[in-house]
Parts: sequence; C-alpha cells; structure tokens
Amino acid sequence: MIRAFRCDLHMHTCLSPCAGLDMYPSALVGRAVAEKLDVIAICDHNASENVPHVIRAARGHALVVLPGMEITSREEVHLLALFDRMDFLQRLQDIVYSHLPGINDESRFGCQAIVNELDEVEGFNNRLLIGATEVALADLVRHVHDLGGIAIASHIDRESFSVISQLGFVDPEIPFDALEISGRTGLARARRKYPELANYPFLASSDAHRIEEIGKGFTEFFLEEPSVHELKMAFSGQAGRRIAGF
Ligand SMILES: [Zn+2]
Ligand SMILES: [Zn+2]
Repeated sequence: MIRAFRCDLHMHTCLSPCAGLDMYPSALVGRAVAEKLDVIAICDHNASENVPHVIRAARGHALVVLPGMEITSREEVHLLALFDRMDFLQRLQDIVYSHLPGINDESRFGCQAIVNELDEVEGFNNRLLIGATEVALADLVRHVHDLGGIAIASHIDRESFSVISQLGFVDPEIPFDALEISGRTGLARARRKYPELANYPFLASSDAHRIEEIGKGFTEFFLEEPSVHELKMAFSGQAGRRIAGF
C-alpha cells in the first residue's frame, strides 16, 4: 500500500566539523522522532563513520535511517549520495578517501567525533572532511549510480557550495536524480524562482547542523516502503509513487 512518508534526507552528525557536538546519534534520533519524521538520511561531509551508529540508535523507533554522504566535488559542489545499504556507501567512502587530501585542523574547522549509539566517543576522524575531493562532479554522480545510489545536487538555492553558485547552472549532461532546496526557500518558492529547472524533481531538506534544525525542511513522499529504490520511482512519478505537492 502506498502511503505518505515524511522525509528529511539531509542532516549532519557531530562527525562533520561544522556540526554541533549535540548531534550525536541518540540525540539526533530522539529529535527526528519528536519531529514526526518517518525517514532521515545521514549525510556527513565526505565521511560516513557515524551512519551505522545512527542506524543502531534508531532500533526500536518507527524511524528509517538511510546511509548517505555529502561529498564535495573538485569544483567545490556539494552532492548528496543516498543508498539502501551500508556496504555500498562504504565502497563510495573508499573512493572518496582515496581522493581527499589533507588533515583536519580541529582548532580552525572543528571536531570530527565518531560517537556510538550509547553516546560513547569511539574516536576522531583526522582527515580534512571540510575540504574538496579531487573527483569531478560528473564522475562522482557516475560512481554513486554505479553503486546503485541516488545523486542529489545539494541546496541549489545557496550562494556557496551549490551547483549553481560554483558552475553557474545545472548542467543537463550530469544525470542528477533530483535537486535539493533549502528549508528556508521551500519547494513552492523554488519552483517560481527556477522555471528553467521545471523538468527536475525538487526536494526540501533541513541540512541540519544543530539539533533544533532537524525537520525544519522535509519532503513528503508517497511510497510503498521507504527505500532508495522507491525514492527513485517517486522522482520519476512511477506506479503511483510521487512527491507531495507535484
Ligand atoms: Zn552542503
Ligand atoms: Zn549539508
């Protein structure tokens, strides 16, 4: 049976240097449940070590956690990659780490904490997660698709790290599955602002870096079950799957 799922498919954890330390797995899950979200995706910058901990923290709750990552391309464009399975995300992680130079300067960029579902600090990631990979945007999208994931251009309405801010336009040669709009702009306003992008599915997410931001942007999807495969069907309006309001 197809039903509505409230999805916030872009949020960070305390692993991202720019996110709050209050974004540890159990707190994040608690807030997502309180915000009545059905599905969240964890998308830390160029990293994924906290994803399994958030998945475990969500056990026993009516909340589905999709494995994801927000990758920075060579052009400094942010790209969301979402998967159904952790092992495919792990394969993308291997590609990202082999093309991500630099060491984090904690005093400058922030702490990158790996925290488990019991709120225990398991360690710190010392890579330069705030930096850009050496992989071109088009190649990143290809890697995500090769691994069965979906590739969404992050916050296209923002003035930094978006495909429009960095490249000037949404390249039709790059097969994005959807374009993300910030919670602040919202889907209806974005449709008026970007008439030239009418052929792309839009979704809104919170891009939460602080606990109180979780659920401040979300998209309602009509799906049979919350999975990347079903989200893909909703993006193309297949077999009754769809995004609410479009
Ligand atoms: Zn971003
Ligand atoms: Zn983000």
